[in-house]
Amino acid sequence: MRPQQQQQQEQKQCHFCTTNRDVVDYKDADLVRRFMSSQGKIYPRHKSGLCAFHQRRLAIAAKRARYLALVPYTTR
Ligand SMILES: [Zn+2]
Repeated sequence: MRPQQQQQQEQKQCHFCTTNRDVVDYKDADLVRRFMSSQGKIYPRHKSGLCAFHQRRLAIAAKRARYLALVPYTTR
């Protein structure tokens, strides 16, 4: 048993598919923030649990939100 590989039940379903939302709203800072690390990095797909379609949409939304300073590029 390797201690680093925590048996964390990753969610199988994409958050946006389950909530039936096609658009990832870049104005919803809390939502975008949920898929970012505390340092402001966008989580990769295996961490965010999103499908390819929504991961792409989220990345665009996150970058837009950064530009509008709704979410940080990085933290100190
Ligand atoms: Zn999806």
